[in-house]
Amino acid sequence: MIKIIIISLLLLLIVILVYAILPTVLIRASGWGITKRIKSEAIAITFDDGPNPEYTPQLLDLLKKFDVKATFFVVGSKVLANPDIIKRMSAEGHTVGIHHFEHISSWILSPIQLKKQLQQTEQAIRECVLQKVRFYRPPWGHFNLFSLLLGKRYKVIIWSHIFGDWKVAKGKNGLLEQLLAATEPGSILLLHDCGETLGADQEAPYYMLKCLEIYLQENVTKETKFITLKDVYQ
Ligand SMILES: [Zn+2]
Repeated sequence: MIKIIIISLLLLLIVILVYAILPTVLIRASGWGITKRIKSEAIAITFDDGPNPEYTPQLLDLLKKFDVKATFFVVGSKVLANPDIIKRMSAEGHTVGIHHFEHISSWILSPIQLKKQLQQTEQAIRECVLQKVRFYRPPWGHFNLFSLLLGKRYKVIIWSHIFGDWKVAKGKNGLLEQLLAATEPGSILLLHDCGETLGADQEAPYYMLKCLEIYLQENVTKETKFITLKDVYQ
């Protein structure tokens, strides 16, 4: 009996390794099939996990103030709940990409479920905007064995800089300094305009926005160029 349990656990471990962990480690380490930096003199600022009815409009106001175009990887169910925010994003020149229909890791999605997450989110975005849905970022940067195959119609975008801004503590201490240090051309910066994700703090976007305002103020003065992904990959 114990032998059967041990063999079952070992088999489960092998399945998890082959289906989830190894694809993620290999894809992320090799960069195969994904984009971590853009070939541009500009910096791409990207936001995940929204739209959020409280913080995303504030973020759009901020980007408008500094005339910066960004990229949003949105959660499909939140798109359905906040279609006007997505319409505004598109009307103001930002790129809207897929971040799954629910904020679920690809590690626990079957290929059929993953395909559905992509299709439902694309459908939700397309109902709001005319732009083609061309970009995909999987939640937490998790890939499974079928992610690149199922997402082959999209350009898969990861990031060059991630800051931990989903925590209030980071927004209060360290985020601004790290943002200000991320000035190399071609960088893809990852921030979050919604704090409702597992492990995030609800109020975290408030602090992110405060830091982002100072960051944009400083960089507009320095004439740093910012670019949205649809303008990079035309
Ligand atoms: Zn996310």
